[in-house]
Amino acid sequence: MSNIVIIGAGIAGISSALTIQKKFPKAKITIIADKFSPFITSDVAAGFWWPYLVNFPNPDLLNRICRDTFNYISSLVEKEDAGAMWQSGYEVNRELTEIPHWAPLVRGFRRLNEDELNRLGEGYKSGQFFTTLALEPTTYIAYATKEFLSKGGIIKQEKVENLVELTDSFDVVVNCSGLGARDLVGDKQISPIRGQIIRVRAPRVKHFFCDGDYYCLLNSNCVILGGTHDEGEWNMEVNQDTAKKILEENIKRTPELKGAEIISHHVGLRPFRSSLRLEKETIRNTNGRETTVIHNYGHGGSGITLFWGCALHVVELIGNGKAHL
Ligand SMILES: Cc1cc2nc3c(=O)[nH]c(=O)nc-3n(C[C@H](O)[C@H](O)[C@H](O)COP(=O)(O)OP(=O)(O)OC[C@H]3O[C@@H](n4cnc5c(N)ncnc54)[C@H](O)[C@@H]3O)c2cc1C
Repeated sequence: MSNIVIIGAGIAGISSALTIQKKFPKAKITIIADKFSPFITSDVAAGFWWPYLVNFPNPDLLNRICRDTFNYISSLVEKEDAGAMWQSGYEVNRELTEIPHWAPLVRGFRRLNEDELNRLGEGYKSGQFFTTLALEPTTYIAYATKEFLSKGGIIKQEKVENLVELTDSFDVVVNCSGLGARDLVGDKQISPIRGQIIRVRAPRVKHFFCDGDYYCLLNSNCVILGGTHDEGEWNMEVNQDTAKKILEENIKRTPELKGAEIISHHVGLRPFRSSLRLEKETIRNTNGRETTVIHNYGHGGSGITLFWGCALHVVELIGNGKAHL
């Protein structure tokens, strides 16, 4: 039996584990991670399906990944415990923008006219109304983990210091370590984009709203207010002045937020890379034994928007030459 290990238990790791398990049902599949949900970056995400703060040089593959993830999340909406839901709302910009590449994927996409833009606030030059998906990451990771364990998957808590230490025991290593890749594989192309958010109870808010500076997004039991995008910033402390500003600015844009009850404050570090790393590498240990490594990290602000398409691509990359698994 073949042995496959996935490093990382975030949205990228657990989804790669599921797609691999489906494709190679006879393989022994282990997830190793030093931290688990609800204490990782994936838990901080609003789970909004919207390509944001991510680089990828292959537009055709990116489109496929977007589409596969969107379709997968929409298939989860009917499952009560998977954390998926539809939501409609406005995205506006202070400059003229092109119609985004993902417009045909979402439902009911339409450009806003000048009158609508003026009514939404001052200085907006373009924008759209559309219906997209949200996947609440903590709920989904719990759902996916249950599925993985029920099919014989193994989970271990451990910090991996380098990939070579895994080569004696595993035939394939899948690296879904997010920002951890900076130390794990010495990848200095990955760095944080810090995001601070507030979860509030605001049942009167019925639409999402984002304008590039601030956003108000819906989850099933709360509304998520953001946000910051501080490049290269590692500080995980909640900044109270920033929180006050996020709340005030969002109330200006979405007045139904007035009087909202604050549930919690959060900070997360988006794993941003010059390009999302989704590729295969072969490493050799001191005995000359070769091991296939698939990298799947660097999703920036789009880890939930891209996770399933990336996980399907991981399986394709393993499949090249490993069909026997
Ligand atoms: C404020 C904020 C809002 C966001 N909102 C959205 C959104 O609405 N939509 C969207 O698409 N995306 C959003 N994102 C982005 C999204 O959260 C990330 O892209 C995504 O969570 C990355 O997932 P991951 O599995 O790669 O990383 P992580 O969730 O960070 O998981 C990494 C895993 O690797 C493990 N690990 C790392 N190094 C090692 C090691 N050496 N040994 C063992 N284990 C290791 C960690 O313990 C962890 O289990 C948001 C991010 C932030 C911060």
